Amino acid sequence: MAGSGLANLWDDAAATGLDEADLLVYRSNLLGSDKRITNYGGGNTSAKATETDPLTGKPVEVLWVKGSGGDLGTMRRDGLASLYMEKLEALKGLYKGVAFEDEMVGYLPHCTFNLNPRAASIDTPLHAFVPRKHVDHMHPDAVIAIACAKGSRELTQKIYGEEIGWLPWKRPGFELGLWLEKFCRENPKAAGVVLESHGLFTWGDTSKECYETTIRIINRAIDWFGSETAGKPAFGGVARKTLPAEERRSVAARLMPAIRGMISAAERKVGHFDDSDAVLEFIGSRDMEKLAALGTSCPDHFLRTKRSPLVVPFDPAAPDLETTLAALPAALEAYRQEHAAYHARCKRPVSPPMRDPNAVVYLVPGVGMITFAKDKATARVSGEFYVNAINVMRGASAVSEYVGLPEQEAFDIEYWVLEEAKLQRLPKPKALAGRVALVTGGAGGIGSAVARRLLDDGACVVLADIDEAALEATKTELSGRYSADVVRGVRIDVTKEDDVIAGFKTAVLEFGGLDILVSNAGLASASPIEDTSLALWTKNMDILSTGYFLVSREAFRLFRAQKAGGNVVFVASKNGLAASPNASAYCTAKAAEIHLARCLALEGAEAGIRVNTVNPDAVLRGSKIWSGEWKEQRAAAYNMSTDDLEEHYRSRSMLKRSVYPEDIAEAVWFLASDLSAKSTGNIINVDAGNQQSFTR
Ligand code: NAD
Repeated sequence: MAGSGLANLWDDAAATGLDEADLLVYRSNLLGSDKRITNYGGGNTSAKATETDPLTGKPVEVLWVKGSGGDLGTMRRDGLASLYMEKLEALKGLYKGVAFEDEMVGYLPHCTFNLNPRAASIDTPLHAFVPRKHVDHMHPDAVIAIACAKGSRELTQKIYGEEIGWLPWKRPGFELGLWLEKFCRENPKAAGVVLESHGLFTWGDTSKECYETTIRIINRAIDWFGSETAGKPAFGGVARKTLPAEERRSVAARLMPAIRGMISAAERKVGHFDDSDAVLEFIGSRDMEKLAALGTSCPDHFLRTKRSPLVVPFDPAAPDLETTLAALPAALEAYRQEHAAYHARCKRPVSPPMRDPNAVVYLVPGVGMITFAKDKATARVSGEFYVNAINVMRGASAVSEYVGLPEQEAFDIEYWVLEEAKLQRLPKPKALAGRVALVTGGAGGIGSAVARRLLDDGACVVLADIDEAALEATKTELSGRYSADVVRGVRIDVTKEDDVIAGFKTAVLEFGGLDILVSNAGLASASPIEDTSLALWTKNMDILSTGYFLVSREAFRLFRAQKAGGNVVFVASKNGLAASPNASAYCTAKAAEIHLARCLALEGAEAGIRVNTVNPDAVLRGSKIWSGEWKEQRAAAYNMSTDDLEEHYRSRSMLKRSVYPEDIAEAVWFLASDLSAKSTGNIINVDAGNQQSFTR
């Protein structure tokens, strides 16, 4: 909990001229930009302002409050819900008591001001009923450490005196809103309140005052922990060693696909690996097992991380991966059974059925933390949440004793019918959600089109290419379009065994495993046989034959470790089936590629690994192959200008159509998706029709 305090980032110049709603967005973005203030997606802010009622033209009091979903750090004005304060106040007359508080959520849409489509969140009454203009509700690690410590009420008083009050644990909702109102009325001088096992509320008369109070109150907790814990070993001191970085990565790269395969039966999971200092300190400590078993505390946390992590049986003092891998099935099954028992113990008549019982957080002593979720962003954020929980446990256990939320309370949050309703409203996952693909030659014309197609459908993509500049440019473009979470770039020369092995390891550490390999890296060359140098011949063989063997071998190894099938698509060429003059090296290497695919289809079938081929022809646009001397050679061979080539190929085709990278991508996508689940050893020509390449 020690460390430097939070800086006051308020800039009067930036805030000048903003109306209350925009000022609230500005304040929210400042607060949400630092995870020590609040976790991703956690916390909310509000402002009560006078607006003109569109129905009457008269001034009315409106609550602007962060709406359901979204994140304070990146929220825009459309992330705010707006509600008539008068109507919110009137809800008190409809309230039948705490047993019925969930019903009140259904009334919130009736209070909407100005047809704002942003849904109001469950926390809305917490802001509405605090009789102050500006309210912040944050989840700062330093304050939650106080809120989750045994004797948190006394601690709060010791640190803050009369300035900050304390309320016992209460699930967020209408009742807690009323509690907060009562507290404010009885303590008009208080600047805020600590909520047990939850977080912090602060308020002010202006946006700036509210922000500065929030920062000041959190800084006081940070400073206090700093002086209390200085020189004290965290978590009871060091109990086990931490492996060197490269060994940690190697162990994680073996464990992640194995775990992924065991937890992906109902839904494919994407992984995230974190071996930051905070994680390593916790997992290397004496108290790790004891604290981990107590579960995380802040309500947001276990919605993402589940109540507790799974500690993987691995001893960094005597690393024995085979024994750990052999012990994993039983450890994972025990976790699932415990979750089922927890659900059975705590469920109420209205509780939703048990969700996926697998652990989200896997702590590997000496190595790091692995998290798995339905997509990369959720896996990353779940990891971040557990780091928040570690920070909370570090603080609370240093000054007192860390107290997890009682099991039933945790369950009531995790399986809250209102949370379930939110989950049910989520859009159906895309067809390739949870799938991880590696595309070689991913920075090229066809490779990047394939990556886009797979990303469109929800896959995570690792672009692998030898051309670093193109790789960086493609990664940047795709990250901007789809989010940095789902795109990675790794420099691989597919002809180099070590490169391929290292590249696959990186890919595994980024996403936890692999489902789809698109082997597409390539070149084109033309030369009569008498002029073909050995170097040119070998280059074709190296990239198109050996390269395809090397990446396939690595993918097969991974697929077998993951035990969840697999999918390989080769991008070969019409020229692998149809002989072409003056291109024997290229044609022969492409033919080898096609036959390799068939052999692998045969070999992989029993493990559910499919291998298929797409044969493009004459894809001029976007292709780097067609920007160099190959284009000139082809034009010369046909005795025409390079500008006429596209038209030449179009009119040569049976369908009289040009072929684009997107057309190849569509065929690759089909073979990579479950739509072709019953096809292996197949070839799809995407060449606008060419009799020579008909398969038989
Ligand atoms: P491209 O040149 O735009 O892309 C090929 C990519 O492979 C490039 O980014 C390149 O850097 C990469 N690459 C080359 N050698 C590599 C190596 N050793 N390791 C890793 N990456 C390497 O060409 P494209 O048209 O997109 O071609 C993609 C595939 O399609 C190739 O296999 C090609 O033979 C095949 N193909 C293309 C056409 C066409 O008309 N464009 C026709 C038939 C087959």
